[in-house]
This record gives sequence, C-alpha cells and structure tokens, in this order.
Amino acid sequence: MKVAIVGMGTAGVSVLRQLVKHKMFEHLQVDIYDNKKNMGQGEPFQNDSEDLLINVPVDMLSLNLDNIKEFREWYTSQDDFDYGDAEYLPRYVFGHYMKSYLDQYVKRYDNIHVIPHEVTQIGVVEEEKEISVKKIIVQTDEHDSRSAVYDYVFLSTGTFSYNDPYDLKGSPKYIHEPYPANRALDDVSERDKIAVIGTGLASLDVIRYVLKHHDQTLVLASRGGQLPSVRGEMITVTLQYMTRETFDEIKQNHMGTIPLSILKALFKKECDALNIPFKTLIHRRTGNVVRDLQYDLAHPESLGLLQSFLMELKDNMNWIWNSLTYDDQQLFLERYYQYFKENMNPMPRDTAQFIIDAIESSQLEVYAGLEKVARLNGHYQLEFESNQQDMTVDVIINATGPKKKLSQLDASDGLLLNMANKQIVQAHPIGGIQIVPESNEVISPRYGTLSNLRAFGQMTNGVNFERNGVTMIVQQAVNSVAQLYMQLTKSYDIE
Ligand SMILES: Cc1cc2nc3c(=O)[nH]c(=O)nc-3n(C[C@H](O)[C@H](O)[C@H](O)COP(=O)(O)OP(=O)(O)OC[C@H]3O[C@@H](n4cnc5c(N)ncnc54)[C@H](O)[C@@H]3O)c2cc1C
Repeated sequence: MKVAIVGMGTAGVSVLRQLVKHKMFEHLQVDIYDNKKNMGQGEPFQNDSEDLLINVPVDMLSLNLDNIKEFREWYTSQDDFDYGDAEYLPRYVFGHYMKSYLDQYVKRYDNIHVIPHEVTQIGVVEEEKEISVKKIIVQTDEHDSRSAVYDYVFLSTGTFSYNDPYDLKGSPKYIHEPYPANRALDDVSERDKIAVIGTGLASLDVIRYVLKHHDQTLVLASRGGQLPSVRGEMITVTLQYMTRETFDEIKQNHMGTIPLSILKALFKKECDALNIPFKTLIHRRTGNVVRDLQYDLAHPESLGLLQSFLMELKDNMNWIWNSLTYDDQQLFLERYYQYFKENMNPMPRDTAQFIIDAIESSQLEVYAGLEKVARLNGHYQLEFESNQQDMTVDVIINATGPKKKLSQLDASDGLLLNMANKQIVQAHPIGGIQIVPESNEVISPRYGTLSNLRAFGQMTNGVNFERNGVTMIVQQAVNSVAQLYMQLTKSYDIE
C-alpha cells in the first residue's frame, strides 16, 4: 500500500509514529512531504525565540497517549537544550522532540521516503470502472511537477494563513505573520513605535519577544481588549451529566441531536456538582487588564476547577459539538463562545506576572475598542470606539490569528482552494472542511466520503471545534491509523 503524509508537523509526525508501531508497517511505502524548514517540527514548534513557550506544562504535553511524561523524559535524557526544571519549555524544544522521532524512523526504516517539498495539488484518480476506493494523486512543483499516486493520503498541512482584518497585507512595516517572532523586528528601527493587534495567545508570544528586544512602549490593541485567563490549579475532572450515555438518550427524543438549551442545563448541573462558581467567574472581568490578571492569580483554585472542567469538555468535544445542529452551533458561538475562549486556553502564571509588570512600568499599554487601522502619511492610524484613544504608530504586528473559513482563503492556502475547486473538499458552515468527526475521513461533494483521505488540524475546525491541541491531534492520528491497518488487514485476508 502506498501512503502519503502531506505536512510533517504534529499531526504528520503523530501519524508516522502510529504507522511504524504496527506489525504490518513493512507492507507500506510511505512518502512524507513538507518543506525542509518545518519537516518534523511544524509551524508552532519551529526554531524561534526561546521566549515563545508551550502553553501547557511540560508534564502535560506528549506525543504518546500512553505516556504523558514522554516529552519530559526526552528532555531530561538529551544534552542539546538546558532550561533546568522548567514548567513551560520553549516551543522549539518540543519541535526537536517531535523531530527526533522522525529522524529515528527515517534512519531505521527504508520504506519511509522524505520528499522535502510542499504539495501544490491533490487530485482523485478517475477510474474507468466504478470502484469504491479511489486512488489519490499528489503533486509538487519541483522538477517540472513531480506527481505520485497513493492508496492512502493523510492531509496535515496545519493552520490556515493569517487574518488580515484591516486589509494591510503587503504594506510597509506591517508584519502580517507574527512567526518566527525572532525575525519580527528585522525591519524595525529603534525609534519605531509598535502596536500588536489581537489579544489571543499569539499576541502574548509577540509581547514577550518585543518587550525584551525593543525599548519603546508597546501598544496592544484589539476589539475586546481581553487577554486569556491565567492557568489555575488543574485537577482531574470526571463528567457525570455530559456523558455519551446521557447524550444518546436525549438524542433519541430529539431526532438525533442535542438542543442547545438542554446542553446548557447539563453544563450547569456539571458546574454545580463540581462546585464551580460559574456565574462569578464568567462575570469577573472588569476590563482593567492588571486587575483582571491579578484576580486570576489570586484565585487559582476556583479558576483551576473551571479550566479543568473546560479541558475535560475539550477532550470530549468531538461528540458534544457534533451533536448540535448548525443553528445551535452558530448560536453558541454568538452567545457563549467568548466566555469559553477566555478560559479554555489559559496563559502561564509567569506570563501574567510579566504582563502586569510591563503595564505597571509603562512598557506596555493595552487598549480595547479598536475599530480601524489605516495607513496614513507613512504611519498607521489606530481608531478606537472612543476617539480620544486614537493614535499613530510606525509598525503593526498582526496577531489576530488564522482564518477559519474556506471562503476567506486566498493564494496562500492554494492547495486547499484547489481541492475545493475540484470538489474534493467542501466548506463546513462553521469553518474549515467537512470531515467525518469520528474518523477524519474527508467528505467530498463529488466523490462522497473518501475513506483513504484523512484530514487533521485547524483545517477541520468546524468539526473539530477547539480540538487543535497536541493531545487531541494525536488521538485523531491514532484512530485514523488504526482504520488504515484494519483496511490493509482486510485486503490481505481477501487475498
Ligand atoms: C503559535 C501556536 C502555538 C501553539 N502552541 C501550542 C502548545 O503549546 N500546545 C498545544 O497543545 N498546542 C499548541 N498549538 C496548537 C497547534 O496548532 C497544534 O498543537 C499542532 O502543532 C498543530 O499541528 P498540525 O500538524 O496541524 O500543524 P503543524 O504542526 O503546523 O504542521 C503542519 C505542517 O504542514 C506543512 N505544510 C503546509 N502546507 C504544506 C503543503 N502544501 N505541502 C506539504 N507540507 C505543508 C507545514 O510546513 C507544517 O510543517 C499552537 C498553535 C499555534 C499556532
């Protein structure tokens, strides 16, 4: 069986790890595609500043579902990187941990072939006879378009390109992509005033880096002006009411779906059972960043409870989210998502303290109510809801995060757009492409469910809602590879 893995970051490496584990691995020929720079490390864990930290403690991040301490053990056993007994290591160290497995496999197995190029097109081979499983053709632009045909393709090309909410891409001193952060200041002069737009996790990376390497006061501006919450004390949570069994029962009375109102009631019951002061916590924000961060730092227990509960929900999000109708998913996004987002991806306590110190020493200013950014007389004009706050800066760093919908994509996401144009993939109304939630099989409008084309990561964000962390990606890789081997075993049994 010929297999291709397109994109060798977290998902690609995880798929390969699962493939090599199986006793039938020798029956496969595996081609792996990525550019040289990211091969085995991916985008978030590429070589970059050591100021960019993983957002989960080292002891909770692993490529091995059976050994959550594997990254820690790898870190302790090697000599190349030494950050002591850190709770949060630089992200690139995790990248080297991933890459160490890739290097090891490539050395050991001669049925793995590294193709250090990006894929530009994927097509489905039209067969004369109607067959259930079609082959898939993968093409790169190198050597006059090299192409090869595969029985099975894992599509793991990572995050869509970045949003450009103020249409500034290509303007001078507008840094459209915040990574690699250690190159962000290459064209910035010492006297330039910089504004970072967006207040999600990416902006925290940028703030950490810029404040350490640039002396001017840094401006952080966004519409909401809310930073993520601070990680509290995490505990193990077992869901009592939001269980698969309960969902199955409710679904029987609601035509196979869970109404949002019932989900809300179950959520509340779960909060009560866990003694989470939910109302207090979601209304705790005052809009004053220092006060809000200090509140979080002072309430690690109650906040940790909420975050642990949300983390457990995230682990089960697959069947929870996909039990809702599209209308209810949309309603959830409009009414409640903001509260989840703030608390689902918390920042390390050290980062919170770092930001408080920076604001108190006037190195950092945070503004909410950003409405418009425009280029004016060689500078950037930031316009806010309250006109008194309007200001001018020299450099903008865009940290507004990646696009979510196929309709927003441009040539930077050419492969996906091309696949949509050929009707191999189709848009999910909430975001990304349509896949089967349980198996990651791509659902094509032209060919139906393609059991031999599996998609992972942020491109599946409509189905895999809030499920793009390392652990959740590894879970999906494990399932999909198990299904490949079931198919392979079946084909050998038939022969
Ligand atoms: C800035 C940032 C920080 C994050 N930090 C964390 C964290 O600390 N902990 C955590 O759990 N999650 C984190 N995440 C979530 C993260 O997205 C996932 O954990 C994971 O890295 C995503 O894996 P992936 O394989 O989908 O994408 P990636 O790891 O980015 O891999 C995609 C790969 O595909 C390649 N590629 C793209 N296009 C092509 C093409 N046409 N042909 C061939 N190859 C291609 C890219 O070069 C890249 O190597 C972070 C995300 C971001 C954006």
